[in-house]
Amino acid sequence: VFDKVEQGPPDAVFGIVDRFNKATAEWKALPTSDPKAADEFKPINIIVGAYRDENGKPWVLPTVRQIEKEMAEDPALEHEYLPITGLKTFIPAAQKLMFGEEKPTFASVQVLSGTGAIYTGFSFLKNHVNCTKVIGPTPTWPNHPSCAKTAGLEYGSYPYYDNAKNSIVWDQLIESLEKAEANTVVLLHACAHNPTGMDPTNAQWEQLADLFTKRATTSPLIPFFDCAYQGYASGDVEKDAFAVRLFTSRGLPVIVAHSFSKSMGLYGERCGCLHIACSSADAVKRVTSQLSIFIRATYSNPPGHGAKIATKLLSEPAKYDSWLKDLNVMTARLHAMRTKLREGLEKAQKESGAASVQNRDWTHITTQTGMFSFTGLTKDECAYMEKEHKVFLTPNGRISIAGLNDSNVERVAKCMIDSIIK
Ligand code: PMP
Repeated sequence: VFDKVEQGPPDAVFGIVDRFNKATAEWKALPTSDPKAADEFKPINIIVGAYRDENGKPWVLPTVRQIEKEMAEDPALEHEYLPITGLKTFIPAAQKLMFGEEKPTFASVQVLSGTGAIYTGFSFLKNHVNCTKVIGPTPTWPNHPSCAKTAGLEYGSYPYYDNAKNSIVWDQLIESLEKAEANTVVLLHACAHNPTGMDPTNAQWEQLADLFTKRATTSPLIPFFDCAYQGYASGDVEKDAFAVRLFTSRGLPVIVAHSFSKSMGLYGERCGCLHIACSSADAVKRVTSQLSIFIRATYSNPPGHGAKIATKLLSEPAKYDSWLKDLNVMTARLHAMRTKLREGLEKAQKESGAASVQNRDWTHITTQTGMFSFTGLTKDECAYMEKEHKVFLTPNGRISIAGLNDSNVERVAKCMIDSIIK
C-alpha cells in the first residue's frame, strides 16, 4: 500500500543542513596527515537562523539557565498536561510583551512556536473566516507558502525587495496591496525581515496602516504579522513591536504569530503564542473556542517547559531585566559580525585585484538588521561556495550572521569574493 508513495523534496533549509552534516562527518573522518583536514577546510554552517556564541556553539541564555535551575529545585514543579490553550499565566505575559501595557482585546492561545502559530492562524482563517488567499512578500521565509497550502489556503505574493539595489520596492508593494482582493490575508514580517534583513521605516508602516485602515470597511485586508524576531531588529523589544502595536491601535483585524524561539533561545521547546484581535470579550470567547477545537484535534495541548520558563522570565522584573541584557549580548555580537564581514569583503575584493568585483558595494551588510544578511550572491555563487569552499548557505544568498565568529568571518568573506570572481 505504501510502496508507491512518491519521494518529497527535501526542506529548503533543513535539506542543506543535512548536506552540511554529511560534509562535516567526512571532514572529521580525514586522516590528520591529509592537508584537507586542516581547520581552514572545516565546513561552515551559515544556514539556519539559530544564535551561536563566539565559539560557534548554541547559547543557552544565562537568564534561562538560572530559571531552569530554580525550576529543577522547585518541589511544586510537575509535568501535568497544560490546558488546551496553554499555560494560563503565559498568555497575559506574552500579550504584554507584544502589545505593551494597554490591555488589548485579543484571543490568545499558546501554540507550537512561530510555525504552529502561523499554521493555526491560517487554518482558523480558512475554516472560520471568509478567507481563501494569503499573500506574502517576495522573498520570504519558505515555510510561509507551505503553511498556507497545508492549511488549504491559496498562496500568492507581493513585491518586497530589489535584489540588485538591495532595497525595499516600496511603491510596487503599495500598488500591489491597493489592488489585492478583499479578505486577502497579508503576511507581514513584524521586524527583522527574513531573509532580507530590511524592514519598512516607521513612516512606511504608518503609510501601510493608512492603506489597511482606508480599505477596512469596504474591502478589508487581514494583516497577519509573523513576529519571530522581537528584539533582534533594534535590540529593543518595544521598538520591534512598533508595527504590530500601530496596526492594533487602528482597530484592524490583526493576527500575530509570536515566537519565543530566537528571542529567548527556546528553539526546541516550541514556545509561542497566536494572538487574534477581537472587538469584544464575547468574540474572544467564541474565537478561543474554535482555536481550542482545532488544537485539541491536532496536538491536544502545548508543551509546558518553554512556556514555564518564558512566563517566569517575563513576569519577574529582575529576570526580565536580565533577559534584556542577554538579548543585548546576542544583538551586539551580531552587529559586530556584520561590521567584520563587511570589512572582510571590502578587503578581500581589493586584494583580489579582480576588475569584476572592484565596484561591489557591501553597505547593505551593515544596514540590514536581525539574524540574517541577504548578501546578493546568486544561486550559482551559493552553489560554488558549498562545492568549492564547504561554506553552506541557502541558495537565495541568505546567510545567518549568527553562524559567523572571529575564527570564520574572514574565510567566509574571502570565499564570497572568490565565488563572484571564479
Ligand atoms: N517566521 C520566520 C520569519 C522565521 O524565520 C521563523 C524561524 N526560522 C519562524 C517564523 C518560526 O520559527 P519557530 O517555529 O521556531 O518559532
